[in-house]
Amino acid sequence: MAEHDIPRATAKRLPIYYRYLKLLLDAGTTRVSSNELSDAVKFDAATIRRDFSYFGALGKRGYGYDVKALMTFFGEILNQDTLASVALVGVGNLGQALLNFNFHQSSNARISAAFDINEDIVNTIQAGVPVYSLDDLEKQISDQRIDVAILTVPAPVAQDLANRLAKAGVHGILNFTPLRLDVPSDVRVQNVDLTNELQTLLYFINNFGGAEA
Ligand code: ATP
Repeated sequence: MAEHDIPRATAKRLPIYYRYLKLLLDAGTTRVSSNELSDAVKFDAATIRRDFSYFGALGKRGYGYDVKALMTFFGEILNQDTLASVALVGVGNLGQALLNFNFHQSSNARISAAFDINEDIVNTIQAGVPVYSLDDLEKQISDQRIDVAILTVPAPVAQDLANRLAKAGVHGILNFTPLRLDVPSDVRVQNVDLTNELQTLLYFINNFGGAEA
């Protein structure tokens, strides 16, 4: 099955499956049932079975799934073998935190270039990542074959930068600004609005209480 035929919700669960399967494999576990997986990753077993069936991975009754085979398979889909270079635009408080966060320990991506307009940090190395002037954006994206960018700039400049990133060849933007971006159809945007997430959580806690909600 082609990757683009996989439902988005399933695709979002793949890295979670992958991480847990890796833990199992490292612990020497060779097979796992959808119920065991369900306990660990907190998706119900039916969802897991349906997700896996999209990939033609069908567990055997009384045996479950072969951990290594699943890992190899998901690893290929997730491109674990190729490390994706990611750009970060806006090295403020949030940008700095993400640079320090170091994605590549648990995933196949790492921030390889950061960009800012602040002369105090341009041409410095922050958390091991070079910070370039915004003037170098297009050149670095092309030279480093960067396909994904993280946007942690003030909202008023976010659209402008999204335009530049798209034009420079970026196909994915992880948007931490509250602005909803307009992008060409070949660019995918994933919005991460932390303030909104926290407010949603507070709303549920205040209105429906804790875990039982
Ligand atoms: P945050 O916590 O959201 O990162 P902050 O207070 O640290 O906020 P912001 O004013 O949100 O800083 O700016 C984030 C970063 O984006 C700063 O380092 C700023 O220099 C940078 N920045 C501002 N405008 C641009 C721009 N047009 N292009 C690139 N970087 C920019």
